Amino acid sequence: MRLLGRPGGCHRERKTGGHVARPDKPLLYRRAPLGWAQRPARTANPHPGLPQILRNPRGYNGRMTSHPQTFHAVVVGGGLVGKTAALALTQSGLRTALVAAPAAPLPAGAIFDSRIYALSSSSETLLERLRVWQALDRSRLGPVFDMRVFGDAHAELHFSAFQASVPQLAWIVESSLIETSLDTALRFQPNLSWFESRGQGMTVHDDAAHVTLSSGETLETDLIVGADGAHSWVRAQMSSKATRRDYRQTGVVANFKTEKPHGETAYQWFKDSEIIALLPLPGDHVSLVWSARTEHADELLKLDPAQLTAEVERVTQNMLGALECVTPAQGFPLALQSVDRLVAPRVALVGDAAHLIHPLAGQGMNLGLRDVAALAEVIANKEPFRDLGDPVLLRRYERARREDIQKLVIATDGLQKLFSVPGTFARAVRNTGMALVGAQPFVKRWLVSAALG
Ligand SMILES: Cc1cc2nc3c(=O)[nH]c(=O)nc-3n(C[C@H](O)[C@H](O)[C@H](O)COP(=O)(O)OP(=O)(O)OC[C@H]3O[C@@H](n4cnc5c(N)ncnc54)[C@H](O)[C@@H]3O)c2cc1C
Repeated sequence: MRLLGRPGGCHRERKTGGHVARPDKPLLYRRAPLGWAQRPARTANPHPGLPQILRNPRGYNGRMTSHPQTFHAVVVGGGLVGKTAALALTQSGLRTALVAAPAAPLPAGAIFDSRIYALSSSSETLLERLRVWQALDRSRLGPVFDMRVFGDAHAELHFSAFQASVPQLAWIVESSLIETSLDTALRFQPNLSWFESRGQGMTVHDDAAHVTLSSGETLETDLIVGADGAHSWVRAQMSSKATRRDYRQTGVVANFKTEKPHGETAYQWFKDSEIIALLPLPGDHVSLVWSARTEHADELLKLDPAQLTAEVERVTQNMLGALECVTPAQGFPLALQSVDRLVAPRVALVGDAAHLIHPLAGQGMNLGLRDVAALAEVIANKEPFRDLGDPVLLRRYERARREDIQKLVIATDGLQKLFSVPGTFARAVRNTGMALVGAQPFVKRWLVSAALG
């Protein structure tokens, strides 16, 4: 079902630079619009180095019966990363389709969303540029001015925005708050069509790609953006290999009201191979992210709110006094996942479809939003003769993202492993390491700037 965009058949013609593709002509014979590169003739593999698996020289599944709607870009997946990607592309003047289910409403009476993100300044900058940040209800944003990290043998690290000379270390934001603001912005974009559907079939040709939806519609596009999460369907279609390692941990999240003020401080404890974080929400509330071993997490998730509260008070040594559970607990299995390629001809991956990291540093969403910023920048700087699916262009995006992704994979996985090693010696080494880092303001400043993106 098409929800947004111009009414009735406006996408049946591709109109660029004065050229109108004739809808009655078979797709494979359409001429490239003026100002766009003539697509290369079909050869064995016109793009060496990139796989040909998706190429279908016989045309669209051999059953192209109706004329597809045409777009410059089709974004598959409507998590926060996909919606941000759709907004960034459409705001840069590209006719964009978003294939996404509608946002689930917050349960009636819920004070806070159970999905909370620590967003860094790079995410704030992107959302500000898209005029989404300005629309957020400020009273629901929680700044983080300080962060205290406790090792498993009395070592403690303190990071402060003041010492790092930044306004705040991060913002704690509810997922639904950003999503509502993104949805509102998307609804005002004349160049955006929103399909409440799922991607079901995908083929890539030299001159265009096609996405068929579960609703039966077909979209023709220059570029498919796969923003469909860790189990990405787009990634599977482009045959990018994903290497996944289960942490055998579940992230248990819940929100609490605190007796003592949190002082806009984020707390994190490394304990018995598990990591417990309390992130400051507005008005003496905190968000719990407990990365617990799977069996332990299963037990935690079975507790009633009072029992869970007692357990959190115990493990955080009553740092914030008595707690009251205000949002029921939910669990998310944790894994590390890397992909061998972020791009294929006419396809680019963003967000969890491209990388999955441990949430101990609260960076997965930030990384995904930086993918969006990089893709939008590469597209904005493209030569006029390249089309959006040009492998040369897409490789620029891949190169631009490689180092940032790699750094965070190594840092989060390394920390997770470091605190998982049992034994007195290992504990002594990591806590000494923490103490050394704590004594080096320069190293701490570097860590803060890396986390800010
Ligand atoms: C416990 C926990 C805490 C975290 N905390 C933080 C934090 O503080 N800060 C931070 O930066 N990150 C954090 N993260 C990471 C963050 O949650 C993810 O990186 C982020 O949600 C990824 O967003 P996404 O849009 O890429 O994917 P998703 O949110 O998974 O969205 C993908 C969407 O695609 C849809 N989809 C799938 N297949 C199809 C299809 N065929 N057609 C159409 N749609 C499809 C799905 O339904 C879904 O809506 C945390 C993660 C966990 C588990």
